[in-house]
Amino acid sequence: MNWHLLPLSEIEQLLNSSPKGLDSFTASELLLEYGKNQIEDQKKKTPFQMFLQQFTDFMIIVLIAAALISGILGDLIDTIIILAIIIINALIGFIQEFRAEKAMEALQNMVASTALVLREENPIEKPASDLVPGDVILLEAGNIIPADIRFLETYQIKVDESTLTGESHNVEKIAEKLTEGDYSLGDRLNMGFKGTFVTNGRALAYVVATGMNTELGRIAKMIQKDETATPLQKRLIAFGKRLSIVILIICTVIFIIGWLRGEAILIMLLTSISLAVAAIPEALPTLVTIALAFGARRLAKSNALIRKLPAVETLGSVTYICTDKTGTLTLNKMTVQETHEIQHTDSNSIFFPANILLTAMTLNNDVSIDKKGKWLGDSTEVALVQYAHDKNFKKNELEKTMPRVAELPFDSTRKCMTTLHQTGQGILVITKGAVDLLFSKLDEKQKKDIPEIEAKVNAMADKGYRVLGYAMKWLPSIPEKINMDTIESSLTLIGFAGMIDPPREEAKQAVAECKQAGIIPVMITGDHKLTAKAIAKQLGIFISEEDLILSGAELSALSETQFENIVEKIRVYARVNPEQKLKIVKALQDKNQFVAMTGDGVNDAPALKNADIGIAMGINGTEVSKEASHMILLDDNFATIVKAVKHGRRIFDNILKFIKYTMTSNSGEIWAIFLAPFLGLPIPLLAIHILWINLVTDGLPGLALVSEPSESNIMSRPPRSPKENIFAGGMAIHILWVGFLMGTVTLGIQAWSIHYNNSHWQTMAFTVLCLSQMGHVMAIRSERESIFKIGLLSNTPMLGALLLTVILQMMIIYTPFFNTIFKTQPLTLYELTITIAVSSIVFCAVELEKWAKRKWK
Ligand code: ATP
Repeated sequence: MNWHLLPLSEIEQLLNSSPKGLDSFTASELLLEYGKNQIEDQKKKTPFQMFLQQFTDFMIIVLIAAALISGILGDLIDTIIILAIIIINALIGFIQEFRAEKAMEALQNMVASTALVLREENPIEKPASDLVPGDVILLEAGNIIPADIRFLETYQIKVDESTLTGESHNVEKIAEKLTEGDYSLGDRLNMGFKGTFVTNGRALAYVVATGMNTELGRIAKMIQKDETATPLQKRLIAFGKRLSIVILIICTVIFIIGWLRGEAILIMLLTSISLAVAAIPEALPTLVTIALAFGARRLAKSNALIRKLPAVETLGSVTYICTDKTGTLTLNKMTVQETHEIQHTDSNSIFFPANILLTAMTLNNDVSIDKKGKWLGDSTEVALVQYAHDKNFKKNELEKTMPRVAELPFDSTRKCMTTLHQTGQGILVITKGAVDLLFSKLDEKQKKDIPEIEAKVNAMADKGYRVLGYAMKWLPSIPEKINMDTIESSLTLIGFAGMIDPPREEAKQAVAECKQAGIIPVMITGDHKLTAKAIAKQLGIFISEEDLILSGAELSALSETQFENIVEKIRVYARVNPEQKLKIVKALQDKNQFVAMTGDGVNDAPALKNADIGIAMGINGTEVSKEASHMILLDDNFATIVKAVKHGRRIFDNILKFIKYTMTSNSGEIWAIFLAPFLGLPIPLLAIHILWINLVTDGLPGLALVSEPSESNIMSRPPRSPKENIFAGGMAIHILWVGFLMGTVTLGIQAWSIHYNNSHWQTMAFTVLCLSQMGHVMAIRSERESIFKIGLLSNTPMLGALLLTVILQMMIIYTPFFNTIFKTQPLTLYELTITIAVSSIVFCAVELEKWAKRKWK
């Protein structure tokens, strides 16, 4: 449909809508008709496909084939049991993958964007996915356009369409119909498209297409999905491939040796293939997703919403946290502390009999008042309006006599804003902004007074106050062109106000915690150098002689190399533009730092995207910044970032513990079966035993490790390098030696029983291997601390998992039905006691390893 060529009246008819918006009933009917306003994921698997996929693993197919052959040739019961275990395993795999997917979906829903919709004239916030054609939406700077729209009213609205058209400049939009012709998307000036974003101004628009009917939907197939594998998963996948080859070689050797020793060929085939299936850790990447997704859920409870899963994994590696000041380190509750009026003797400058500074404070702002009498707007402006209001300067009264006729809105690069007011004497221009940046806009006559004014401003800033200046001039009429040059020049400074924004109580504590954890907090602010320094000192960010503070202007003057030479020492950046944040991120990254960066505005998006962890503000952030981020702070609070880092470290630790546990268990099974022939022993375990251990012992307690509470030193050790090999730092050695020990205790009990002609030797060996793994999982719950120190009961899911595993193992040993199936025998009390005693060797050995670590490292 050529919406851009139609007059608004026709559009209203076609959509059956009006500028008042739809009513809720019609909207919900239309939602049923058109479906959700979302881009469908073409590649999404159905649950059945997900289940079937569990059987596509090469080794599983080989195992099924071998089991079938062995069934045809001999032991049918074995085949049935193996197939049953494979199906149960596939079910578990499916449930895990399904849960991982659901957890990911839940995460995505948590960060779903919203839109401001007019329903019967009332603006209400709705999930963007509920929009329907005919809806009227309100847009403002920072919004992502949620559907394809036709503009109805525009107020200096500019849109960045680069995601759709590749054009990098912002397009100014209009509401009028276009003349007949052929227009490319980029030329349809009265249209807006889903996925593009508003950089300036505001507008009202009709939704004309939603979901897959939008231009974005049409090209959805071409859009690259975000990478799903996290860095750790990619490494695990690559490592898994290499490990599979090694395991396949070992299993082949085991098969050949067994065969040469005269073991039944079919049994050897099943045993070695089952061992390969059990030992190849193909499920690790999915389990990492689960651990990360559950971690993300816990993070959300602590007010940190994860948008990109890898962030959970890498949070613990952060070495620099570059944070905004206002609202993040401070409360964003401004109150004016003092004002200073500049006395003008020049009669031209005496504007009103009433206080001119308070008049300017009352008029120059976008603050409004709601029905309950509450001030709404930017906290800086609310503070100023409130101050004047308390001195009897009422906004609604003054605005009646001096209405606003034009404006140059605030932007964080100019750091000022201007309003133009119609008065009986002509047009009154009021500019408010950072005083140091107003100096260049002053009239020549006043420039000589600048040093004296600056000294007064600095005295206020030194106390940590944000100082805002007011300047003004008269114009006979509104100029044709309203821009910075015509309006913000030849002004007269009339005074300034200093306001305080107290630091957050918890931020100070969080800064200290950061430092202890080897993370350097850096403040980035649009505020004055002295204001920033004073606050940074109060918070403990700026303390030593070596700490540096840099202004935006100084930063621009530095070459890349000069900047990189000092970047690691800078603790405060003042009067910076959002664009400069990217330069800071890049310089730190060039120095091999792992950078978290906060941001809230449209211009912060590039820095957020490029930071290792881009953090957007949930309360005061624009949608564009949220879209560019990896994580959103629901409470805009610096302390939450530090909490998230702590959680991130814990989650990563637990994933490592999980990997360590699984791999050591696999290593134990391989050692036991591999070494047996060399010691002149028969193969200790049957195929079904191996598969059982893989299903039960490896699975449940391993998963419970993910719920392990954090280590006591979690925030007193340096950040882990994201490039560090996870098997470094002793993990590989642990896997080998503890696995070896598990294998030898299994073989030890086997040899001992055989020596005494005990026919229960296989059940004992099977149970020792199973219980040794239980002991191991308990011992590795902490990397360094003794289990008795962290408390046997401090991980309840683990206790449950252990109990269940022990019950299941006893069921296999003591029930006649399972005795036949698993070829086990009931152990006597004496045998069971010996088995438990031998199984505890691994637990004791790992506790000893930790004791040695505590003593010598
Ligand atoms: P921070 O960067 O510390 O988080 P911020 O985001 O509030 O703070 P900006 O909004 O970029 O920083 O403001 C930078 C400067 O612009 C302020 O120090 C102040 O001098 C000026 N300023 C802020 N708000 C306004 C406003 N509404 N009108 C005019 N000037 C303003």
